Order: sequence, then C-alpha cells, then structure tokens
Amino acid sequence: MEYREYGKTGKKVSAIGFGGMRFGKDEDYSAEVVRRANALGINYFDTAPFYCNDRSEDIFGKAFQKMPEQFYVSTKSSVNSEPTADKVRWRIENSLKRMGLEKINFFHMWCIMDLSQYERVMAPGGPYEGALKAKEEGLIDHLVFSTHCKGADIRKIIEDEVFEGVLLGYNAINHPYRQEGVEAAREHKLGVATMNPLGGGLIPQHGQYFSFLKQWHEETVSQAALRFNASRRGITVTLAGMGTLEEVEENIKTLDHPLTFGTEKLKEIQEKIGKGFDTLCTTCSYCMKCPKKIKISSYLEAYNLMVLDSVDRMNNHLDWLREKGSLKETDVSPAECTACGACEALCTQKLPIIQRLQEMTRMAK
Ligand code: SF4
Ligand code: SF4
Repeated sequence: MEYREYGKTGKKVSAIGFGGMRFGKDEDYSAEVVRRANALGINYFDTAPFYCNDRSEDIFGKAFQKMPEQFYVSTKSSVNSEPTADKVRWRIENSLKRMGLEKINFFHMWCIMDLSQYERVMAPGGPYEGALKAKEEGLIDHLVFSTHCKGADIRKIIEDEVFEGVLLGYNAINHPYRQEGVEAAREHKLGVATMNPLGGGLIPQHGQYFSFLKQWHEETVSQAALRFNASRRGITVTLAGMGTLEEVEENIKTLDHPLTFGTEKLKEIQEKIGKGFDTLCTTCSYCMKCPKKIKISSYLEAYNLMVLDSVDRMNNHLDWLREKGSLKETDVSPAECTACGACEALCTQKLPIIQRLQEMTRMAK
C-alpha cells in the first residue's frame, strides 16, 4: 500500500480508502470485509449516518472492535434541513457511540452543494460552530467538508481556510468540472479525498466504452478508474466502495502497478472526455426531489446510452428498465416536467436535466 500525508494533519493515509456505502445484509460478514481491507493496508475508512439503510456506522463499530492494524475514521453530518450547532453535536456523539470510538479523525460538513449552503453552514449557531466546539473538546481531530460544487466554488470555500481537507466527487468522466478544487486544495495544503471514482458504476457498467482508461491488459476497467484518481496530483486518498471480500481483493490489486498515468494516456483520456463523457449522469439520485415524481435518474441513465452510443441503445435501456420494474406504466412520464428547475439546482453534475427530458419526450413521439 502507498501512504500519503493528508494535508497538514500529520496523518498518513492509504492511497486507496474504504467507502462504507456498499455493505450487504450480513453485518458480521461486512465487518470481516472491513477488517480484511485493514489487514491488506487500507487505513482510511469512510462512513456516514444513513449509508446502507443507516447500518454502515454500526457495521464499522463491529469491525473496529477487532481491527488488525491502525486506522482512521471519517464520518459526516448532514448540513441540510437547517441543522443547528446543537444537532451537529448530537450527531457527533451518536456516531461515536455507534462506532465505539472516543474520537472521529475526519469529520465532514456533508455534501455542500453551493455557496449559499456553505454560508448557512458557517452562520452563527450553525453546523460548523457545533463541530468546531466538538473539535475543541477533543471529539474530532480534523474538520473537513464534502461537496458536489463546481471547482471554482470549491476554491472559494478552501480560500476561507476553515477546513483541513475536502472530499469531492471526482472521476475520469467529470474531473475537469472539479479540477480547480483539487488545485486549490493542493495550493493550500489540504488533504483531498475523492469519492465516486467509478462514476456511480457507470464506468464498469460500460466497460467496453471506458476500456481506453486501461494501461495494462490484465487490469479491470474499475482498477484503471481507481488508478486514474489515485494518480492525479493533489489527490490524497481515493475512496472505493467495498461490500465483499472479492471487491477488497480487486481494489487492492490496483496497487499491482504504479499509481501513475503517462502523459500520452492522460491526453488520450482528455480527448475522449472532450467528446462528451463529462456530460454523463452518474445516477447518484441527488436530484430525486421532483414535485411531479418523475424518475429523473432512470431517464438520465438511459440518456447516457445515447451519449455513449445511439438512440437505439437508449431505447433498449428504457425497455430493460421497464422489464426489471425500475420504470412502470403508472410512473409519471418526462413529458409531465414543468421545468421548475428544482432538480437542476440539486444535480451533482450540473446537467441540463430539463432539456434532456424534453429531448426524450420528443423522441418518444
Ligand atoms: S424541472 Fe421537471 S424533472 Fe426537474 S424537478 Fe421540476 S418538474 Fe421535476
Ligand atoms: S441527473 Fe444529476 S443529480 Fe440526478 S442522478 Fe444524474 S448526475 Fe445525479
């Protein structure tokens, strides 16, 4: 395993970190998965309340009782629904209790979507104030933030110098959108964790399209995507979601080759991305607060197939979603979209959702 300094914290974390949002139903097995990852060198474990139907922190708690090696824990507090300093304090105490810990190493102001939300986080009596107090009392080592903002806005937050690190959605598809945030973190010597390296599963699901990421014949496209993140300058730890022992082994194998990307390969990737890969929906579902209840992520998942291939592939995918019950006859059609814009304000990729739904409606005629 390769270990890197996380900003100015004095902590060295593994280049590949453990994302705790993919556990299955068996909690003992899941705890074993965590411990196996730790035995193989992973020392950065990321969780949050509500992950895996709110079981993730409990599973980590089980695993932490018998971890083979030293480790660091990252968890989060939501900054939505107008949380107060007191509520954040309660969440910290709750996370500590669930994981059986005395201290959280990296505590995130979770999922800052834009600068106005950041202002609410920092307001007197708000979440930051609560977390800072907990840090002063020794319940937190480092106060950090997670975000889906565009790079320029991430820079603005970093320049305020109130956080010691950042967790951002970053992968081979969307990296130009957040690159400025990584650069700002590097300039200010902040730790950078990246989430969503597989584009919400989009990269392995379309392995053939994304095979251009591979540098070695024997590596999988998922390993190539992890290597892409882990090799970028300024990125400290790349989180990979792991739910099985096999996934742990596969992710660890990424280290079989150096965590680098040659200049020529990077150029090739950037050329491909320039042809439209940065416009793909990652099916993260953050936009799913449609007042009309349109299943936006399912429709945009199908739209991806048109970007990657053809209208026929998109229509085949829509048929497949209907067959497996993800889309039903009774579901509201994209034609019902009122263009209210609520989904676009929430979209982590800042996609033109309304335009896409309108395009799909026209094609369906
Ligand atoms: S713009 Fe359309 S799809 Fe988006 S939230 Fe509004 S009604 Fe729903
Ligand atoms: S449209 Fe945007 S927010 Fe919604 S699932 Fe796709 S990437 Fe995520």
